[in-house]
Amino acid sequence: MDFTNLTIEDIQGILTRREASAEEITRAHFERIHQKDSDVRAYLSLCEDKALDQARRVDQQISAGEPLLPLSGVPVAVKDVIMTQGLPTTCASKILERYSAHYSATAVSRLESAGAIILGKTNCDEFAMGSSTENSGFFPTHNPHDLTRVPGGSSGGSAAAVAANLATVALGTDTGGSIRQPAAFCGVAGMMGTYGRVSRYGLVAFGSSLDHIGPFGRSVRDVARVMKAIAGRDPLDSTSADVPVADYENALDGRVRGLKVGVPGEYFEGLSPEIGRNIEKGIALFEKLGCEVKPVHLRHTEYAVGCYYIICTAEVSSNLARYDGVRYGYRSPEYSDLRDMYRKTRNQGFGAEAKRRIMLGTYVLSSGYYDAYYLKAQKVRTLIARDFVEVFDEVDVIITPTSPILPFKLGERVNDPLQMYLADIYTVTASLAGIPGISVPCGKSKGDPSLPVGMQILAKHFDEARLLQVADAFEKAGGFEVA
Ligand code: GLN
Repeated sequence: MDFTNLTIEDIQGILTRREASAEEITRAHFERIHQKDSDVRAYLSLCEDKALDQARRVDQQISAGEPLLPLSGVPVAVKDVIMTQGLPTTCASKILERYSAHYSATAVSRLESAGAIILGKTNCDEFAMGSSTENSGFFPTHNPHDLTRVPGGSSGGSAAAVAANLATVALGTDTGGSIRQPAAFCGVAGMMGTYGRVSRYGLVAFGSSLDHIGPFGRSVRDVARVMKAIAGRDPLDSTSADVPVADYENALDGRVRGLKVGVPGEYFEGLSPEIGRNIEKGIALFEKLGCEVKPVHLRHTEYAVGCYYIICTAEVSSNLARYDGVRYGYRSPEYSDLRDMYRKTRNQGFGAEAKRRIMLGTYVLSSGYYDAYYLKAQKVRTLIARDFVEVFDEVDVIITPTSPILPFKLGERVNDPLQMYLADIYTVTASLAGIPGISVPCGKSKGDPSLPVGMQILAKHFDEARLLQVADAFEKAGGFEVA
């Protein structure tokens, strides 16, 4: 039996019936990783010994007759911007190449206390800045559906790992789309909760007012299970919300008849016709399920990319100031004085995209430009958030494509950062507004190769249960494979 293509429920059924041990399931994953990951390159580092120890502990609990925990025996991959005690946490950056975390992120410790088995750390764009995983300081990850194409980004390694059955579920991070867009490119489900829903403690900061940790899975139920495990107030993150966490799996009841689904016209301009065709079919499926589909308007959408790239770069320039060659990570081996040490360390340690954003962010925050850029962007952010609040007075969820473009060829866009930024148009809006979003597979493009298309579902603040309910109903109705 192949243990690598299973859902969480499948795995736990096998464990309960004692058809296989957690150790066997974990070993099967490493075997597959050793076979396949030389092509996909989803992982930056593996922790085989630790994982097998964790698995044996789960097996002992089972033999002792203890009940399974929500994630007992489930193999998980973790994006390398999330701290994992004792394991490398490089953020896919040369500046942290030899850095090992001395504590774990709350999301990671919650996964571990729920019984999960961490297999390793996944590749991403450097410090999560990018949309293709090509900005990794080490190597790019390849899309399992077509190895000549990108997996999306920045959480490309986590999305590819789940898509290629190199982990059952994975953690990624989303600041402007980095869970939802790679989920779309790799044909899996990926979710970002409301800002503050999941603790950011132990997540290496990129844009602190926008950063989220969230799950990838091959089914909505798996995503719901992981989300439930990691969500909730954490005293170690003052921005984590003190709002009760619903039982997300209970919400997966398929009862979506009568729900109002908003479709914003602004999200259907200038997109790949193949994506448009699939999303239209997805929307038709909601009508068949008895939902009322309503056109809506999110009027400030056209300003979202500009607004996002001012705010996130401003935050980057501040957050990345700490990599100074003194406190942690890389230090240039040769320098003449302190200034020269800073300059050489940062020049050698950061890749081109990190430098570009530090410079942009420093510029938009500098005196004389602050009002024109940063302050203006903050005002626009409020307008974008207000658009959503108004539309959610009329509808329960909003449906859009996740990305205007299909997975593109490796190397095709690396020299055109602006094109790369513009393609984030459908995902940055929800990030700016702080609302939850999920991307689920919505069929594949025609042609050769046939590539995954992702549909984005958005809900109002803290309405994760609704989001998952709708996504699950779509999956159950065959939406993942619409043709
Ligand atoms: N592609 C976006 C960016 O480059 C989003 C990144 C993210 O969500 N981490 O900033």
